[in-house]
Amino acid sequence: MQALNLTPQFSPRQPQRADGLTAITLGRAPRCASALNALLDSGMLRTLRAACGLDALVDALRQQDADLVVCDVSGAAPEGLLVPARLKCEVDEGRLPRMPAVLWISELPRCVLDAYASGLRAAGAVIDIVRSAAFIPASLSRFAQWRTPAQQPLPAAAFSDEDLILALGGKDGLRVVLQPQVDLATGRILGAEALARWRHPLAGDVPPSEFVQAINRLSMDPMLFHFVTERVLDVQAQLAAHGLALRLSVNASVSTLSAPGVAPSLEARTVERGIDPGLITVEITEDEAIQDKTALEAALRRLRACGFGVSMDDFGTGASTLERLTRLPFSEIKIDQSFVRRLPSDPASHAVVSAAMGLGRAMGLAVVAEGIETDEQARQLHLLGCRIGQGFGLGRPMEVDEFVTKVLTASAPATRHHPRQTSP
Ligand code: C2E
Ligand code: MG
Ligand code: MG
Repeated sequence: MQALNLTPQFSPRQPQRADGLTAITLGRAPRCASALNALLDSGMLRTLRAACGLDALVDALRQQDADLVVCDVSGAAPEGLLVPARLKCEVDEGRLPRMPAVLWISELPRCVLDAYASGLRAAGAVIDIVRSAAFIPASLSRFAQWRTPAQQPLPAAAFSDEDLILALGGKDGLRVVLQPQVDLATGRILGAEALARWRHPLAGDVPPSEFVQAINRLSMDPMLFHFVTERVLDVQAQLAAHGLALRLSVNASVSTLSAPGVAPSLEARTVERGIDPGLITVEITEDEAIQDKTALEAALRRLRACGFGVSMDDFGTGASTLERLTRLPFSEIKIDQSFVRRLPSDPASHAVVSAAMGLGRAMGLAVVAEGIETDEQARQLHLLGCRIGQGFGLGRPMEVDEFVTKVLTASAPATRHHPRQTSP
């Protein structure tokens, strides 16, 4: 294979694994050599070749297919950036049987690389980007999962901490959707819950249950909270410009709110933008143990004193629901969807919902039911006195623009009055 320029160090030293990836580097990629050799040793790579230049790469792939093309892209050697477009052209014109995935190793700004990759990805190219050779093994794990028989997209868990950090820092792929909360008697939209969404360039949509947990593990939850609340404040400003006042909820973990500065920052940003804090509710999930009770209590009292709502999310699923309810200054409880789902068929769930309604009344708390999927669930909740509902049966989470358009077009005069009040 004349076009190939095999580097002597790229040779398997262990028995080859049948499931190992076949790879080819553009150029000798000296900065990646030791990482790639280690992957050959481990068997994660089955074969590794090198080709000097784009034409040589195409010739090499024509002679022998590869799963992956590795390109060390630097300011001095940007040729790797051309690889996906060139390979796509070769495939489109029938000169190559398939398009290998491409890995860019580059210290260039991620946003620049992503902007460049996005059109190619939209055209079907699989491109992963890492900052240094140290991240090659993680990337190869993702490719190995991608290269299933059907060349399926990556499973949701296939993202690295680095991907998440970049998404949080650059807001790349991270966005907020809004799920309506409606008046169960009239169907009118009263507000919405903001839910974070993350689309990974390779893995596609990653479930919040996975990336929120990873963000918490990295202690980057205040950044997520900041990102989501900024988006919610933007929406509030947009609604206010049309004379609309709807209440929007944001999620926060216990540790996020206990972190110094998080509650004061929300307060300052809300006031600075002239937005009524009563239009924002912070939902706290019950699933996390409270490490610093004093800090959490102080933060919640501060938020409540300022006028924000504070909701106990997933009510009934935590270990110390009632203890927290009496100690912390909630303004709302959100009945967990597991009780709502079983409401029509399970007397115990019916009793829990009924008890939650009673607690809400006795303590002056708003009660929201979540996870409403059927008319029967909505009907029974209404009969039990629940006024506000959220669920796929009432409205799926939707893009912010769609939500704003929906509320603007939905009988604007009816929505142009003050939102429901939360108890002091
Ligand atoms: P959550 O706060 O309890 O949010 C409600 C979840 O139930 C959402 O899932 C929503 O899409 C889903 N849901 C709503 N209606 C229905 C329904 O009728 N049926 C079913 N089966 N599900 C329904 P999602 O968006 O996947 O979020 C899961 C959890 O991730 C959230 O639960 C929340 O705890 C967390 N999360 C989402 N966004 C954020 C965020 O920005 N910050 C934090 N800290 N957590 C977030
Ligand atoms: Mg919630
Ligand atoms: Mg919930």
